[in-house]
Amino acid sequence: MLNKNTALQMHMLFNPRSYILISACLLGEKVRFDGKTKKVESLILERWQADKQLLSLCPEVAGGLTVPRPAAEIQDGDVINILGENISLNFHRGAQEALRLCKKHQIRMAILKEGSPSCGVNRINDGSFTRTKIIGQGITSTLLQKHGVQVFSEQQLNEAAAYFYVTLQQQAYRQD
Ligand code: SF4
Repeated sequence: MLNKNTALQMHMLFNPRSYILISACLLGEKVRFDGKTKKVESLILERWQADKQLLSLCPEVAGGLTVPRPAAEIQDGDVINILGENISLNFHRGAQEALRLCKKHQIRMAILKEGSPSCGVNRINDGSFTRTKIIGQGITSTLLQKHGVQVFSEQQLNEAAAYFYVTLQQQAYRQD
């Protein structure tokens, strides 16, 4: 007779993988406004990549913006670039694309780049283009969280791993 822990481990072994949405720049894709990347070196990410668990997206590019592009920040709920153009529509399009991917692949967690007006999880710039950070969330991060996707920043990878290996697996186990 299997005890619950052994049964859970067997379930994890044989259950199909679940995807994690991740900001493309964190995986080394040169999609940032300045044409650069924000690649994160992490054994946790390496493991998930090797397991083909990660699905990358840049919401700003998905929303129709180019690389490079003028820097943008959130001002009173709108996204304004440094040229003064309101590009909120592109940001909302990108967020919708992220949500579409999550629904399509039943993704329940995301790892997003902290500080970005799209991907920021806990902090964003204050809209003054002086690199001043305030507590706040990007457009994509907000939309995903509103729809039940658990969002973590690249600075919270240990918490993300705990959520992935414990919470999600236990939820899947209970649903079986
Ligand atoms: S929108 Fe997100 S994925 Fe794209 S460059 Fe900015 S932080 Fe990275």
